Amino acid sequence: MNARPRAPAPAPVTHGELELLGTGTSSGVPLIGCACPTCTSTDPRDQRLRTSAVLRFRDPAGIDRVVLIDVSPDHRTQALKSGITRCDGILITHSHVDHVWGLDEVRRYNALMQSPIDLYADTSTLADLGRVYEHIFEPSRNINNSFVANLIAHRVTPGVSIALHGLRLTPFTVLHGRSPVLAWRIETIDGGDGGGVFPLAYCTDVSGFPPDAYTHLRGLRVLVLDMLRFRAHPTHFTVDQSVAHAAEIAAARTVFVHMTHNIRHAELDPRLPASMSLGFDGLRLP
Ligand SMILES: [Zn+2]
Ligand SMILES: [Zn+2]
Ligand SMILES: [Zn+2]
Repeated sequence: MNARPRAPAPAPVTHGELELLGTGTSSGVPLIGCACPTCTSTDPRDQRLRTSAVLRFRDPAGIDRVVLIDVSPDHRTQALKSGITRCDGILITHSHVDHVWGLDEVRRYNALMQSPIDLYADTSTLADLGRVYEHIFEPSRNINNSFVANLIAHRVTPGVSIALHGLRLTPFTVLHGRSPVLAWRIETIDGGDGGGVFPLAYCTDVSGFPPDAYTHLRGLRVLVLDMLRFRAHPTHFTVDQSVAHAAEIAAARTVFVHMTHNIRHAELDPRLPASMSLGFDGLRLP
């Protein structure tokens, strides 16, 4: 009896790499008008643009893809430093200014690629973006035919995965003070590690994990986690809280982001447990 020919297994995702485009809190570091040791430090790791990241990978068809996680007000500077020349998707965590007020800049990728860009966010973030960026999301109301970004908005539901170019992306709820915001788990559909970075979880702007979040934080190769400063804060983890949560989650590697000038890289980084480190702008993982 002849065996039926099997469909060939799809090629795996390869060349996965997450670059931290910015690792600073909402005001960035240095702060305007501050002369503290961090703000005047000559260590480039103490200069932090607003927190956001870019994920690069080769999809199962062999095409090199670029996905942005948040688009900070520093995006133009970050894109030039990082050499970003295309965009195959944008994942948004929440609508705070430091995470989305670079959205106008992505029109350059529309021009370079001659195509619209898919943007993924939850209901409340899409409502805020629609209000602030009416010129992008309701272009028919623009008086002139201006050069604005061409985005396709997709509403995502926490806990419900979407597929994008060979990746499975799962938004899940974390607490940012009293606001529920999104974190993202990102892994390959083929089940491989894509070059060592998957599964990864990106959890910026967090002050608490609801019980459901832990199902999305299992078996991580890379965890990107909020770490604001030493003193308590109502909407962000402190240094001690971040380290404690990272230890509990136990990713192979944890990097901390969204830091204020309270944290000097050379002072704190050597004191962290072996699997943890401070992120810095331009750091590429794995
Ligand atoms: Zn933030
Ligand atoms: Zn300072
Ligand atoms: Zn925020």
